[in-house]
Amino acid sequence: NISAPRRPIRQLDDASANRIAAGEVVERPSSVVKELVENAMDAGATRIDIAIADGGKTLIRVTDDGQGIPAEELPLALSRHATSKTDGADLFNIRYLGFRGEALPSIGSVARLTITSRVQGAEAHSLHVSGGQIGAVKPAALTRGTVVEVRDLFHATPARLKFLRSDRAEVQAINDMVKRLAMAAPEIGMTLRDVSGGGEGRVTFSVERQGGDLISVRDARLAAIIGRDFVQNAVTVEAERDGVRVSGLAGLPTYSRGAAVAQFFFINGRPVRDKLLIGALRGAYADFLSRDRHPAVALFIDCPPERVDVNVHPAKAEVRFREPGVVRGLIISALKHALAEAGHRASSTVGA
Ligand code: ADP
Ligand code: MG
Repeated sequence: NISAPRRPIRQLDDASANRIAAGEVVERPSSVVKELVENAMDAGATRIDIAIADGGKTLIRVTDDGQGIPAEELPLALSRHATSKTDGADLFNIRYLGFRGEALPSIGSVARLTITSRVQGAEAHSLHVSGGQIGAVKPAALTRGTVVEVRDLFHATPARLKFLRSDRAEVQAINDMVKRLAMAAPEIGMTLRDVSGGGEGRVTFSVERQGGDLISVRDARLAAIIGRDFVQNAVTVEAERDGVRVSGLAGLPTYSRGAAVAQFFFINGRPVRDKLLIGALRGAYADFLSRDRHPAVALFIDCPPERVDVNVHPAKAEVRFREPGVVRGLIISALKHALAEAGHRASSTVGA
């Protein structure tokens, strides 16, 4: 009603601000998994174990062996816009997977969150937050690293809870997310367990930590997750232009599918979905595939962090390139080149 008396402008309190931010960061259980696993990666973990119950709705627990958080910084970890990953100079540094300092306080405003952590040479401590109310730091037992436990997601926001899908659908989304994170970090061992029934639960996904040079470790990880047949029916992509590098595997046209199932993109080590990249893929395969067929690819793009903004939407993993034309052109020419080369080899074998 525009004739109502105007009200003064007021600053939102922290709890309200967090809950609004949570709407962006935390869409569903798989987005919580993504934030927590990326934090563990940032902390230098070599092992990340994820446990979920009831599609992640009642429990998501991420355990890592990373560097941990000192007891005196635990409250900061749960405070809005507090991050250890920027000093201003590298504010736009995508190499740090998350850097807004919003994930933990957002999750803590819409769930019951307990963080337990230990840094080398100190005792373990834990801190609980529920509905945005931060408790007291308490001594805890933990040999190393960090455990973040998220219970009863959206318990205080029934409207959001109602939008979640069935447990099965949420498990599927978590599974997909964990696979993409595991592809992005082939040097990290990762497991996903469903503990819905209590006890140790059931391991639904597991990849071992592997040593070796990056490309072979990466290909081995892709074989483990996408399938050995994909790796065997793919060509290696490797190109660089103007400081932007693309590498990875591109499935042969003969390996295509009727539905887009295995298209994975990573920018500076984090999984992304992006229209520009999908469009470039279509352009690259246009001469090799009919429009109703979809190629399988796993492409890793690396570029100086200041040339890509991953902050466009924190949860949806969209990105914005400074020079989209360069990236599009590079991907198209790199893929075309690799595919044409494979085609030549195939036809010369047939001819022989
Ligand atoms: P951001 O990741 O954007 O910095 P978060 O809210 O996700 O914001 O995390 C806040 C801070 O808490 C991080 O900057 C980091 O210092 C610390 N932190 C969070 N999770 C972990 C973890 N698993 N191991 C070590 N430190 C962590
Ligand atoms: Mg984070």
